[in-house]
Amino acid sequence: SDHLLEYPIGPSHMDWHKLYPALIPPEAETSIDGAKQVEIVDIGCGFGGLLVSLSTEFPDKLILGMEIRVQVSHYVEDRIIALRQQHAPEGKYNNIAVLRANAMKFLPNFFKKGQLSKMFFCFPDPHFKIRKHKARIVTSTLASEYAYLLRPGGIIYTITDVLDLHQWMVRHLEAHALFRRLPKEWEDEDPCVKIMRKDTEEGKKVERNNGDKWVACFVRLDHPE
Ligand code: SAM
Repeated sequence: SDHLLEYPIGPSHMDWHKLYPALIPPEAETSIDGAKQVEIVDIGCGFGGLLVSLSTEFPDKLILGMEIRVQVSHYVEDRIIALRQQHAPEGKYNNIAVLRANAMKFLPNFFKKGQLSKMFFCFPDPHFKIRKHKARIVTSTLASEYAYLLRPGGIIYTITDVLDLHQWMVRHLEAHALFRRLPKEWEDEDPCVKIMRKDTEEGKKVERNNGDKWVACFVRLDHPE
């Protein structure tokens, strides 16, 4: 449970070298501008399929998966270590890492204001029952937290096979003054939308079952509209 989770008292106290040893020197001052910082996060990354594809799509960015389940986060850790070893000559996959964390609680402990350029919410747990809706990963309160962490122009990506959850996420993010939904034409052109449709483990499962995938993406505005 949460009391067993480790989290820094603030973003500058996080040891990122541990997660990206090839790219971040030990005891790097991540608060200093210019130091390499995590920019892309996959919330509830599951088994890490999205991370692996994003790694080669954005080789110059640091990408972090956050996953609450211990065994699953260990699996992703092992997967990344194996990929790094396999591709050591080319130095690939050094830019992705996984962290066991409850993304609903401690995000501002890890990232400072405006640090992130992309946040992914791929097939989040639907929490069908009404009394469980408050456990959903997109709520009005959390939307404000995401707006704080994303820089203006940053993007929230969502995808789900549950229509009710899709409508819920759209409703909460559209109602927020700092987010605007991006049009279908934008989604069709964006490489990350393709990746989250086909490379997430859940996305593949839905594909095999011929299920629907509902996508919605939102830009973080500079000022409230
Ligand atoms: N995104 C992956 C995909 O598309 O294949 C996994 C989707 S799975 C249905 C949802 C994942 O979110 C699970 O692995 C679950 O453990 C994780 N999760 C749920 N609540 C979380 C939280 N508060 N913080 C971090 N991860 C969470």
